[in-house]
Amino acid sequence: MVAVSKFHPVDQLQEAYDAGQRIMGESRVQELLYKIPLLPDDISWHFIGHLQTNKVRSIMGKCALIESVDSLRLLDLIDKESLKAGVTTRVLLQVHVAAEETKTGFLPGELIEYFENRQFEALKATHLCGVMGMATNTDDTARIAQDFKAIKTLHSQLLSIAPDIRDFDIVSMGMSDDHDIAIANGSNMVRIGTDIFGPRV
Ligand SMILES: *Cc1c(COP(=O)(O)O)cnc(C)c1O
Repeated sequence: MVAVSKFHPVDQLQEAYDAGQRIMGESRVQELLYKIPLLPDDISWHFIGHLQTNKVRSIMGKCALIESVDSLRLLDLIDKESLKAGVTTRVLLQVHVAAEETKTGFLPGELIEYFENRQFEALKATHLCGVMGMATNTDDTARIAQDFKAIKTLHSQLLSIAPDIRDFDIVSMGMSDDHDIAIANGSNMVRIGTDIFGPRV
């Protein structure tokens, strides 16, 4: 479980840490870089927001996992900057299955093509660890389940296209309102903000 701490003050994060939580999720680079030195150094920070290319360099070596890689351009840049910084960056490929066009991510077909062409073999300092996705923001639980199923199915498909890929095993889906549906449909990583910290201000 990732405790999504974005917009919440560090004393709340410290409280979660004291209760045993070690994985925190942030969605803005500036906020992440502000919080890291103020909190214990055994926290695994996950970046979960849209990552602008001009901010990539500043977070190299600081995140246990970048969950929100949503374009090949970003992936290639992360690889280049990781190599330069002498680190290996673990990432998830964000998949777009939701109805909203505002959400970012790869279309399933793009990732299938990427795997079929084995383009991942060109990565030198980036480890693909799985996929991340969000369901449509709706009360229609059937649609939410359908979206999560689509993400899980894509993950299985990618694994069957490249069965030799190592440790591509994370399926990150599910937030405060839909984690139960996500888990029922194959999630093995949930990102919970509001249910832990209350509403964001
Ligand atoms: C904010 C956010 C969450 C957490 O949302 P809650 O509804 O507060 O649990 C999870 N994933 C991503 C990508 C987010 O941006």
